[in-house]
Amino acid sequence: MRTVDEHLAAVLGPLGPLQPIEVNLLDAHGCVLAEDVVAPRPLPGFDNASMDGYAVRYADVGGATPQTPAVLPVVGDIAAGNASVYSVNSGLCVRIMTGAPMPSGADCVVPVEWTDGGVSRVRIDYAPQQGQHIRRAGEDVAAGETVLTAGTSLGAPQIGLLAAVGRARAVVRPRPRVVIFSTGSELVDAGVDPGPAQLNESNSYALAAATREAGAIAYRVGIVPDDPTKLVQLIEDQLVRADLVVTTGGVSAGAYDIVKEVLSRLGTIEFTKVAMQPGMPQGFGTIGPDATPIFTLPGNPVSAYVSFEVFVRPAIRRMLGVKPMYRPLVRATLSQPIVKREGKRAYVRARIEVSQGTYLVTPVGGMGSHLVADLALANALVVVPERVGDVPAGATVSVMMLERRQS
Ligand code: AMP
Ligand code: MG
Repeated sequence: MRTVDEHLAAVLGPLGPLQPIEVNLLDAHGCVLAEDVVAPRPLPGFDNASMDGYAVRYADVGGATPQTPAVLPVVGDIAAGNASVYSVNSGLCVRIMTGAPMPSGADCVVPVEWTDGGVSRVRIDYAPQQGQHIRRAGEDVAAGETVLTAGTSLGAPQIGLLAAVGRARAVVRPRPRVVIFSTGSELVDAGVDPGPAQLNESNSYALAAATREAGAIAYRVGIVPDDPTKLVQLIEDQLVRADLVVTTGGVSAGAYDIVKEVLSRLGTIEFTKVAMQPGMPQGFGTIGPDATPIFTLPGNPVSAYVSFEVFVRPAIRRMLGVKPMYRPLVRATLSQPIVKREGKRAYVRARIEVSQGTYLVTPVGGMGSHLVADLALANALVVVPERVGDVPAGATVSVMMLERRQS
C-alpha cells in the first residue's frame, strides 16, 4: 500500500508542460505564456487628453479663479479618433475629448467641469497645473519593451495587455485535452430513465466539470460497458485526441472489473492501493503509441471525485505549467468530531465558512462513497493525516478549499 504522497509523486514525476502552440487570444486565457511579448509601438501611442475639456496654454489660464476667470475663444473641437492636426495659438483654446490627440501648442487640459462648457467661447474658473490631464506617449509601455515574459499565467489583465499591444494570438502551453469515460454495464446516460438494476451515470459529468475547473479541455466520452473488446476499441479510437485519459470504475476486485486486465495489454499501468479514504484503488501509467498518461479512478462517485481532486487536478495543472498546482489549504476549527481509523489519510466532505474572522468547518453527510447528494453540499475536504485517528470537535484541522471556478 502506498501513501497519498508517494502516489502523487509517482504520478507527477513523468508529467510536464505540453509543447507550446499559437492560439487565438481568448483561447490563451488560463494558459501559461511560452514566449516573451515585445510591444511594437509605445502605449499610449500619442499624447492625448485624459479628461473631457479644453486644451489650452498654461500661460493663458494660470491665474484663473471664479472671481477672475479666463475667457478664451474655442477654435476647434477634437473628438477621440479625430486624426486632423490642430494647434493652439496664444490666447485660444480647443475643445477636446478623453483619448483625443493633444493639439500642438497646448500644454494642459482644463476639465469641462471647471468651465461653463462653452462651445464658441469658454469661461475657465480654475487653472490646471502645467502638463496636467495629458497622457504622454510611451508612459505606459515604451516601444520595444518586453511587456510579458514566458511563464506568465494569462488572466484577464494579461489578455487585455496582449490585445493592447496589438497581439491577436499568443504562443502558450496548451490546455491538456482530457478524455473521460466511465466503465460499467449498469450505467445509462443522463437523460435516460434507468431500467431495472441500472443507474444514471454521473462520474463522467462530474469529472468533465472538474477537468474544466482545473483549466483543461474535457472530452466526455461517456459510458463503456464492462466488455473488454468494446473497451479496447474505444480507447484506441479516443487516444488520438487525448493528452490525458481518465477512466472510472472497473478497477476493484469484482468479477467484471475488466479495466485492469484490458489496460495492462495496451500500456504500462501500475495498479496500486493508496492509503486514503475514500479512493483506495488507484491506477496510473501510459497507454498507446504516444505513451499517453492515463488515470484509472475508482467507480464510486465520491471516490472518483476525491481521487480526481487529489491526483488528477495537480497532474493537469503540471501539464498546463500553471501555479498553483494545488488547491489552497487553510487551517480551520472543526465543529463536529470526525471518526477515523489510523493509517489512512482521510478526505472528509465538509462545508467551510468564515465565522468571526476564522474558518469553521463542518463535515457533511455520511461516509458512504455513493452519497452524491452529500458531496454536492460540500465546498471543502477536511484532510486528516495518516497518523491521526478520531478528531474531536474544536480541533484545528487542515482543509482543502474546492472553489468552483472555471479557469
Ligand atoms: P466499480 O468501481 O466499477 O466497481 O463501481 C463501484 C460503484 O460505483 C458501483 O456501485 C457502480 O455502479 C458505481 N459507479 C461506477 N461508475 C459510475 C459512474 N460513472 N457513475 C455513477 N456511479 C458509478
Ligand atoms: Mg463497475
